[in-house]
Amino acid sequence: MTKNPLTFASGNAHKCEEIQDMLGVALRSLRDLDDPPELIEDGDSFEANALIKARGLAAHLNGWALADDSGLSVEALGGAPGIHSARFAGVHGDDAANNRLLLEKLRGEDNRRAKFVCVLALCGPDGEEWVVRGECHGEIAHEASGENGFGYDPLFHPCGYEKSFAEVGEEVKNRISHRAEAVKTILTLPAQPLQQFLTSEQK
Ligand code: IMP
Repeated sequence: MTKNPLTFASGNAHKCEEIQDMLGVALRSLRDLDDPPELIEDGDSFEANALIKARGLAAHLNGWALADDSGLSVEALGGAPGIHSARFAGVHGDDAANNRLLLEKLRGEDNRRAKFVCVLALCGPDGEEWVVRGECHGEIAHEASGENGFGYDPLFHPCGYEKSFAEVGEEVKNRISHRAEAVKTILTLPAQPLQQFLTSEQK
């Protein structure tokens, strides 16, 4: 029986690629759909937003959908930018402006502790729902460094590394990141809904 591939409820190519590499499951993204649904993230937590996206897409496709909601939570800013990470400085996805604003808000602040959070929601056609969270703790640097990755990567130094996420390289980031932690957890769920998308060699 041929079935649809697992669909990822985002058009963010970076996130889609990272999750695909970690899961070892082929994903198609919203960009691959002819009629992508409009998914409005108006929840008040990472969990709520991930579920809105995965539920909405699963219902639209009558199939399986995976969604990620992620962001940066900075201790000295009371958890901000949090669920507003993508549009911290006003324009969705303007990474340079978001990083500038973050440095500005932390000017003179000694407490640089922060964490990245990733919540993954996996929803099926018959109301199946799974939600897992992964976190990666670290510090916000005083200046940006590195060229890889996306978002706040140039400012985030994960615990135990003297380099930013944009410098550590893909292999390290994909092993220790918040997204990696969430993926590890989703792969260990007792009733493994992702099994159906693995090739027989992977099982
Ligand atoms: P989302 O697409 O609504 O989940 O927004 C996530 C936002 O959080 C991104 O636009 C980035 O600003 C930030 N973010 C999430 N994960 C990462 C990461 O791995 N590195 C850097 N920034 C991230």
